[in-house]
Amino acid sequence: NESFPRVSLDNKEELLGGLLTGGFDEASCISRVQSHLFRKVSPHKASPFLISKLRNYEEIHRRCGPNTRAYDGSMRKIARSKDNGTATMCKYLIWTPVNGLGNQMISIVATFLYAILTDRVLLVKFGEDKHDLFCEPFLNSTWILPQKSPFWKENHIQTQLQKDKVNNSTSVLFINLQYTHSSHEKIFHCDQTQDLIRNIPLLILMSDQYFVPSLFMNQLFNMEISKMFPEKDTIFHHLGRYLFHPSNEAWELISRYYQAHLAKADERIGIQIRVFNAISTPKQAIMDLVLSCTLNHKILPKVDLQTSMSSVGKNETVKAVLVASLYKEFGDNLRRMYEKKATASGEFIEVYQPSHEGKQMFNDKKHNVKAWMEMYLLSLCDVLVTTSLSTFGYVAQGLGNLKPWFLYRLVKNETHFPPCEQDFSLEPCYHDPPKHYCDGKPLKDFVSSFSSLKKCKDFSFGVKLV
Ligand code: GDP
Repeated sequence: NESFPRVSLDNKEELLGGLLTGGFDEASCISRVQSHLFRKVSPHKASPFLISKLRNYEEIHRRCGPNTRAYDGSMRKIARSKDNGTATMCKYLIWTPVNGLGNQMISIVATFLYAILTDRVLLVKFGEDKHDLFCEPFLNSTWILPQKSPFWKENHIQTQLQKDKVNNSTSVLFINLQYTHSSHEKIFHCDQTQDLIRNIPLLILMSDQYFVPSLFMNQLFNMEISKMFPEKDTIFHHLGRYLFHPSNEAWELISRYYQAHLAKADERIGIQIRVFNAISTPKQAIMDLVLSCTLNHKILPKVDLQTSMSSVGKNETVKAVLVASLYKEFGDNLRRMYEKKATASGEFIEVYQPSHEGKQMFNDKKHNVKAWMEMYLLSLCDVLVTTSLSTFGYVAQGLGNLKPWFLYRLVKNETHFPPCEQDFSLEPCYHDPPKHYCDGKPLKDFVSSFSSLKKCKDFSFGVKLV
């Protein structure tokens, strides 16, 4: 019962070419109607099949989501028969947060794709720290797991997905797809596993990963995904733009900041500087890397010490640089470098850094709003420089349709050449793909086994779709 969208021509842009559905109360989510005024129109069109799958999903969510009779009935049944299996009218997939906001957002997208592929209702376990970051994505419903759900507190469900031992006589299964340093095998995508868990009414999934490539390793999912996304490297781009609309509170911050500092510039350069180990990596080494990358690739111009500012013409172009970092030094250094100075290209450089939180914080809403604001602002830039391996940068690149320059990830005081390289796609990297085929044989080379997968540029153990 897949229904096709009804999109009137006049709001086609607002609805991103039919990716989004109309009918939302505009005042409840202003970004939904305004964001297209801030972004370039995406050259990637959502396929009619993706649109029909989304409309079909919305219908399931409306019918089975919280505050419906089907939800109450199914959940009650599941709670009652946790250990002995049951059949319910609706099936669910609870997403559980782990790690930072970027990690969480990429894993929500992967989880949503899995929900679409398996006709499950996606419910997100959002605590206070994520209330009011995003608008509700599904019309006339909520995707937030109700606080009073018996599955809200259940962190250590006994029944886990394990190698060679999937128990299908249960109503609730916990699936952990987190990044792991151990050689713990991932069998989630295998036919055998999927066959066994297909009828389990409630799956609780915990992941900090963009595990979409593993879904692609499953033959059945692979066919669906290929039909939904004829351009395979636009999965996050479309689903991220579909799901993540800044709440009114976040949108106020984003739109004001954009208008005050970035809107008038001729070009916007986003630089995201993530320091993974602040103790072992001196800030100066990172600053040198940023300069070496941006100057070598002419992303930023060299300062011209010969020419004085006063002799520079008045109508030169303005480049606005948006720096996102936990540390104030980076924005300050760059600003000082260009302040009152002429540049070799004649461009005028303005440097802005919206926040400098000092350190990553957990379960903190104000901190998360700033992170979301910066990921979004980065996505509105024309050129993006991000830090290798950072999922914070992945969100910006995917939403923004940008192929970023990846800064090399320094761990010590080393210098590195090249300081940065440009990515070949918009997709986030899956850092932790399975290491074995489903028959248990070691998987040596993804690229020759799966022609649509390619090694990530910023992390050679990771893969992404091309
Ligand atoms: P990753 O660790 O770089 O992959 O990105 P995550 O988003 O998963 O985790 C990093 C977290 O640290 C973010 O969610 C923020 O809470 C915080 N953080 C790191 N860098 C920045 C930044 O540039 N700006 C802000 N506002 N927060 C940051």
